Amino acid sequence: MAWMFSRVLMLVLGTSVAGGLGYWLGEWTGMPHLAAALAAATAVILMAVWDAARAHRLVHWLRGDQDDDAPRLGGLWGEMAYRVERGLRDRERRYERERQQLEQFLLAIEASPNGVILLDGQDHIQWCNVVAGDHFSLDPQRDKLQRITNLVRYPAFVSYLQNGNFQQPLTLTNTRAKSTLQVLVRDYGVGGESRKLVLSLDVTDRERNEAMRRDFVANVSHEIRTPLTVLAGFIETMASLQLTEAERRRVLHLMQQQTTRMQTLVGDLLTLAQLEGSPRPGADHWISLDPLLQRVGADAQALSNGRHELVCERHTGVELAGVETEILSAIANLVSNAVRYTPEGGRIELQWRWLPDNGGEISVIDNGPGIAREHLPRLTERFYRVDGSRSRDTGGTGLGLSIVKHVVQRHGGELRIESEPGKGSRFRLLFPAARVRLVDASAMGDEAAPAALAGGDDL
Ligand code: ADP
Repeated sequence: MAWMFSRVLMLVLGTSVAGGLGYWLGEWTGMPHLAAALAAATAVILMAVWDAARAHRLVHWLRGDQDDDAPRLGGLWGEMAYRVERGLRDRERRYERERQQLEQFLLAIEASPNGVILLDGQDHIQWCNVVAGDHFSLDPQRDKLQRITNLVRYPAFVSYLQNGNFQQPLTLTNTRAKSTLQVLVRDYGVGGESRKLVLSLDVTDRERNEAMRRDFVANVSHEIRTPLTVLAGFIETMASLQLTEAERRRVLHLMQQQTTRMQTLVGDLLTLAQLEGSPRPGADHWISLDPLLQRVGADAQALSNGRHELVCERHTGVELAGVETEILSAIANLVSNAVRYTPEGGRIELQWRWLPDNGGEISVIDNGPGIAREHLPRLTERFYRVDGSRSRDTGGTGLGLSIVKHVVQRHGGELRIESEPGKGSRFRLLFPAARVRLVDASAMGDEAAPAALAGGDDL
């Protein structure tokens, strides 16, 4: 309104001044006074109308959303339109840059393996990433602006957040999901308002590994302590008692047994450590299976000492891609177990078989005591034994099957165990097609007829 009034006032003043000026010009040029005054006033009115039209175009553009270019106007209005448009475009560019930065920042947090939640002063969720959503069963979109303590109801979490003492991280264990979260809260302020950053980390694997490490150390200590105690006892006996020659020899024999037990244990531990620490065997180093089968067969024969019927595949003509010592140790472990656990008179077979997918399997089959179903999934755990005393009495460390599993997995294969109490067991080492090839095709005939090794038969 004020704008309108000032325009009208300027128009009236302008025409009056122009009229007066025209009147004076008429007198000076000899033109009739009225005509000169009217011409001058008309010129002023026309200029004012043109000026108003330009102002109107600019105002019309300003009232809109300024998506299109500002009207191209000359003079002062044009300058004003240009400056306003430039200011607007600068601000839009700045806004767009900041929006992209924020988006990238949020994408980076989204890519983080940690859960991130931003809370306002009243613990309402301002933003959370998908990982945090997973950790706390939150929906990043739906649960925005909800108070977190209404949604995450672990009592430990609620009191941790309310206590405000965030020096130490909080560990949350979900026994049903068998998972553990570590939660860390940091206070930060925006514009005087205190806010919270909640970080969550899934430490389930770390905790499990830590528990396994503790168990492992406890088991190793236990395994070593027993023979050490026995040895210490014998040393004391020898030091304090006068022994006859026969007694001395017996004690020395028992001491040697305990030393061998510790040596075997340390050997198996080193094998395991080596398997875990070395890279996966390449698939381009081929070894012949037959010499391995023959060596294992001979060892089995020596261990059995004629107490079992041993049947061993001799000529397979097969080559496996992998590490010879590892594969030998895997087969030897299985065969030695079969000999140690199968009672006298039992039958043990070492077989090679091609699989339909061109992979192959080495199996060790016995008709020994078998293993109850509930033990099968745990057999490859370190130090897991079904019958502890039988295992120790026969020189077992409880690490054999764990080594076998490691070896076969490192070669891209798998260990499968089938067993039935009272009937016997079958341990299968499955190798993938990429690691198996047939070198000597003529040997296939022999494969169908494995040689029987009764007692001390030659291999
Ligand atoms: P160990 O040194 O005790 O033999 P392993 O890891 O080789 O340890 O075997 C784990 C357990 O599996 C053994 O303690 C034994 O109870 C059982 N087991 C392994 N092989 C056989 C088998 N052929 N027959 C019966 N039980 C077996």
